[in-house]
Amino acid sequence: MSERTLNTVLVIGAHPDDPEFGCAATVAKWASQGRTIDYVLLTSGDKGSHDPSKHPGEVAAQREEEQRAAAQELGVRSVLFLHYPDGLLENTIELRRRLCELIRTLRPDILITIDPWRPYQLHPDHRAAGQAALDAAWAAREWYIFPEQLIDRDPWAVKEIYLFWTDNPDHWEDVSESMDRRIKALQRHSSQVGNRIEAVAKRIRQAAEETGRPLGYRYAEAFKRIVLH
Ligand SMILES: [Zn+2]
Repeated sequence: MSERTLNTVLVIGAHPDDPEFGCAATVAKWASQGRTIDYVLLTSGDKGSHDPSKHPGEVAAQREEEQRAAAQELGVRSVLFLHYPDGLLENTIELRRRLCELIRTLRPDILITIDPWRPYQLHPDHRAAGQAALDAAWAAREWYIFPEQLIDRDPWAVKEIYLFWTDNPDHWEDVSESMDRRIKALQRHSSQVGNRIEAVAKRIRQAAEETGRPLGYRYAEAFKRIVLH
């Protein structure tokens, strides 16, 4: 770890369960080390049901509750939902403005989000979420972008960015100690994993084992890490 203090972490995902499927063992590890972690989910995953009788509003409420419970397992401080429509997320200037304002308010040292440049990533929300988060982090540093936000606060420069679901990892977190908490958190997303939890847990553990093997870690999570100066 660098000599810089990196105590605050913001995780931006498209849907409830993205962090648990992408980076939650790292989140649990960092929270137990005393880092403050906040989650922002851009949608509430309201289309995440194959049951046509379920109203999207019902699904959203359930998924928000599941996400809060999962975050609690991991030691996350707060969870905020921005309620953009699931499946239709776009990296608009309006979304970028909201995320920029959040970054300038929360002042995270580290941003964790989805790698928007992963080739053949078909889910438009995952591409849009990663792109909007990165564009907002860029904007937050600059005096001349969204200056109306700077009347009562300063620009804020995120120091490091960690991208998960990446095909170009260059940083690996040893999560041998916190993998169980990631699985427990995943279990909280019962509308998504439900009775498949054992198969999902097995797959997640296997992937983390493979990621960790070359490094001699029992389990690892991989990231593309960007250090900003
Ligand atoms: Zn997702």
